Amino acid sequence: MNLPSIKTWVFDLDNTLYAPEEDIFSQIDKKMTSFISNHYNINSNDAFNIQKEHFLEYGTTLAGLMNDKDNNIDPDEFLRVVHDIDLQSLKSDPNLRKVILNLSGPKFIFTNGTKRHAENVLEKLGLDDLFESIFDIKSANYIPKPNIETYNLFFQSTNIDPKSSIMFEDMGRNLIPAKKLGMTTVLIKREIPNKHNIFQDKKYADIWGQDVPADYVIDDLVKFLNNN
Ligand SMILES: [Mg+2]
Repeated sequence: MNLPSIKTWVFDLDNTLYAPEEDIFSQIDKKMTSFISNHYNINSNDAFNIQKEHFLEYGTTLAGLMNDKDNNIDPDEFLRVVHDIDLQSLKSDPNLRKVILNLSGPKFIFTNGTKRHAENVLEKLGLDDLFESIFDIKSANYIPKPNIETYNLFFQSTNIDPKSSIMFEDMGRNLIPAKKLGMTTVLIKREIPNKHNIFQDKKYADIWGQDVPADYVIDDLVKFLNNN
């Protein structure tokens, strides 16, 4: 397998550059539930349902909250609160560093999180000097993946030609617009972490949408990049 036509490498951040077992995104998930619970003064079950419904409908919980005109959400405050998490479990990943470093062409981070969170995570993983730039949720005017206009904005602002670029993601639905716009797509299969019962409700069981067809479906990012 090789990818000679690829000139640009685009990576999602959370649950893509590290595994869900690191228990990072699950902390963000819990913070979102408690933010909603406090903001609307409702119990955590109801807050969780609102959170996931927004996520499914709008791409992120925040985008759904911002759509609720009756309840002023300060997006920056929301992002600050939910990203205030413990990154201790993240350790430097020299093998991932080596394979990313060896890729020829610029590498970018394309995340629905914040730049600050991405910088913190990349620093922990020992990858912080490898990327041209981080395109975050603020760069996207708070309009998250998988909204197609955000991909176009990303291409414009980074000067990327989607046809010679490849995108790595753990969420299948975020690869649909990428594919449509001409990118090569790689889905990283992840086990659903039930540590915090996030996906206990069957209604949300397919939240990762891992049945979406991608050019490559992999379970080991280092191995895949090593072979290319
Ligand atoms: Mg992700």
